[in-house]
Amino acid sequence: MLDPCAHCEEMMQPYVDGVLTEAERVEAEAHLAGCSYCARRYRFEEELRHFVKISAEAEARSAPHPARVSPRLRAFFKGVSDEGRRPSRRDGE
Ligand SMILES: [Zn+2]
Repeated sequence: MLDPCAHCEEMMQPYVDGVLTEAERVEAEAHLAGCSYCARRYRFEEELRHFVKISAEAEARSAPHPARVSPRLRAFFKGVSDEGRRPSRRDGE
């Protein structure tokens, strides 16, 4: 049987983009409502898009300073992906 979380992951991008069909959207929302792992992934996707959008807008307004943006972006990725990871094992840090 298909792993529902894998299926949910496939639908994640189009879901965030708002391009799923009504039936797919209902299915995705039903899964997200009952699966904290995917709900967290979904929140990450949304925050990521929001962050990328505001970063792009900030860069568009001022002169581009990728060196200033990327450490923050890296820290953001690291923080959220660490939080979103299943607690199987710790990476030596
Ligand atoms: Zn799931």
